[in-house]
Amino acid sequence: MTDEVHDVVIAGSGMAGLTAAIYAARADLEPLVLEGDEPGGQLTLTTDVENYPGFEDGVEAFELIQETKGQAERFGASYRQLSVEDADLDGRPFTLHLSDGSRLETKAFVVATGASARWVGAENEEILMGNGLSTCATCDGAFHRGDDVLVIGGGDSAMEEAIFLSKFAERVEVVHRREELRASEIMKDRAMDKEEIEFTWNTELLEIYGSEEEGVTGAKLAHHPEGRPKEKLDNPATEEYDVDVGGVFYAIGHDPNTEFLVDTDVVLDDEGYVETLDGRTSETHVDGVFVGGDVTDSFYQQAVTAAGMGCMAAIDAEEWLDELEREEKAEAAAE
Ligand code: NAP
Repeated sequence: MTDEVHDVVIAGSGMAGLTAAIYAARADLEPLVLEGDEPGGQLTLTTDVENYPGFEDGVEAFELIQETKGQAERFGASYRQLSVEDADLDGRPFTLHLSDGSRLETKAFVVATGASARWVGAENEEILMGNGLSTCATCDGAFHRGDDVLVIGGGDSAMEEAIFLSKFAERVEVVHRREELRASEIMKDRAMDKEEIEFTWNTELLEIYGSEEEGVTGAKLAHHPEGRPKEKLDNPATEEYDVDVGGVFYAIGHDPNTEFLVDTDVVLDDEGYVETLDGRTSETHVDGVFVGGDVTDSFYQQAVTAAGMGCMAAIDAEEWLDELEREEKAEAAAE
């Protein structure tokens, strides 16, 4: 058994988790936030946030996170840099098994664990990740001053990464598997306006060259005139060729962080995102477990939508805890 029983534990410390913490703390629930492997969430992978309401000139992502964290702390939230490895959601209270081997119990559980960057599956990526291969231009872009670099992807993230990298790199080549970008018009235009950025269409990354010691030295690409060349590697129209580059950046979307929920009754969709009970509130299919942010939202994935969903999760958890208390009191009175 564990001594620790909390009213509410929040897993995740991006905008969803931190906003849930503000609301839960202001409701005197003294929430514990398990910050996870990426404290601050996806926002920490970006620099300036220009579309979060209330900041005429934008705000630095790090500052936004720190301020929001402090705001929740002021009302009584506490933090631990641990992740949930496993969750037993059958019993009451719930038991959470944490990354340091400890466990704790909580009456209500808010899942705000976000989504993590996807990997392409190119040869050598395991060895080179962090050694010239990156999923975060903001974190690693400055290492590539004067380099030629590749950005893999065709969505808003790829445009954002390419634009950021154009400040440092000599040439940024966006490699997209089709010939039409998925990115929004404004991001597309911004990227296309930069003379350092070039686009390579209908092309995919097969292999990255280099080593842990020397970093990335090049890459093998495949091109097919009709796109998605990896599905057509035996096709004579598919051309494989090498490029010399000093860095590769993945920007092909995200996967929700829900491994610890796989064996529970929380329902996940085909991509692993948490489904809500009614598509309207933050309630999941397990009574007492609430969800907010990118871990349940594969579409909007914005700081402001995550914050809104974190707020909903905390309000729903508070109401649920109130109802639980009323039931417990009624039961005690009946005995
Ligand atoms: P996304 O919109 O899902 O785009 C992923 C891109 O990667 C697509 O172009 C996709 O190709 C490509 N891709 C996926 N798997 C691939 C693979 N295995 N190999 C090669 N290419 C692959 O993801 P995102 O760009 O991360 O954006 C996610 C959400 O966040 C979106 O709603 C976006 O608007 C938002 N966002 C907004 C901003 C902003 O406004 N500043 C910045 C970042 C993200 P296909 O097109 O062929 O599917």
